[in-house]
Amino acid sequence: MIDLRSDTVTRPTPGMRRAMADAEVGDDVFGEDPTVRALEEETTAALGRQAALYVPSGHMSNQLAVFVSAGTGDEVWAHERSHVVANEQGALSVLSRVLPRTFGGESGAPDQELLEDWARGADDVHRARPRLVCLENTFTGRVVPIAEQRRVADFAHAHGMRLHLDGARLWNAAVALGITPERAAEGADTVSVCFSKGLGAPVGSALVGDADSIARARRARKMLGGGMRQAGIIAAGALYALRHNVGRLAADHARAERLAAGLAGLPGLDATARTNMVLVTTEPGAAERRVAEFRDAGVAAFAPGPDLVRMVVHLGIDDADVDEAVLRIGKAVRAAG
Ligand SMILES: *Cc1c(COP(=O)(O)O)cnc(C)c1O
Repeated sequence: MIDLRSDTVTRPTPGMRRAMADAEVGDDVFGEDPTVRALEEETTAALGRQAALYVPSGHMSNQLAVFVSAGTGDEVWAHERSHVVANEQGALSVLSRVLPRTFGGESGAPDQELLEDWARGADDVHRARPRLVCLENTFTGRVVPIAEQRRVADFAHAHGMRLHLDGARLWNAAVALGITPERAAEGADTVSVCFSKGLGAPVGSALVGDADSIARARRARKMLGGGMRQAGIIAAGALYALRHNVGRLAADHARAERLAAGLAGLPGLDATARTNMVLVTTEPGAAERRVAEFRDAGVAAFAPGPDLVRMVVHLGIDDADVDEAVLRIGKAVRAAG
């Protein structure tokens, strides 16, 4: 099976396994795990911030960001399809008791008129207080231009709000734009980055930001039961990923282009590459059926919508896998008529 469901399906490479096996460890709840500390320091430096916190998942990282920036009854603005709103079981309303207010659109960023409309009368006694805006970069593989991110950040700051950037795939955005991760995170007060997606580590994400926010996030992580003891074992995989696997994302992006080009011209499918993802629009309502056909032919994909199939390239996929996937999908499509 050529597994293109997600860039989370990677397994540690031999070099990463060795780094994990050899990791120096200590009790991280006591702040004594040197590998976790090194990971947090290098992530802080990569993002040009004051502090970072290693957490088990991007989900927890997002939720801690909401928790430190907004509280009971506050408004949090985010895309209706953003991970923090749509894919975390409503945790922001459970844990931080905030009111999500969602925008739509394909770009991932709210337009200026909408921001101005929502900010109007924010002091009105009827209104919840807007506290936080969340953006994702990349957003479903799409790079949000840094000028757009900056625009939203400036607006938020001018209105007493903070910006959280869900950068699960910020590394992909940076590589695609040819800029540093620090520049790609421009304007955000807190940033969540994943090591377990395109970077290929087995476990973990980090929340990055100013020292005070991260100190409060560290307390909240413990409150939620996320204090980890000899976490250096897994942090070593993340540290290895950060040191070795950022630059190679360019190869994933090139392979996504190769895959999309290979699928172009197949009847009933319209494929577009966006960073490490290929998004395939099918006939109306046909996504699940296509995914089943591809699976029978030996390619695993995922249907995020009724006529949308997603394929994600990652470090377990080489050029030969891409070419083989194109062959198998072509055969499946022709067999289905
Ligand atoms: C995967 C993902 C997350 C969450 O990561 P987990 O580690 O799976 O909890 C958050 N945001 C985005 C945009 C993601 O793609």
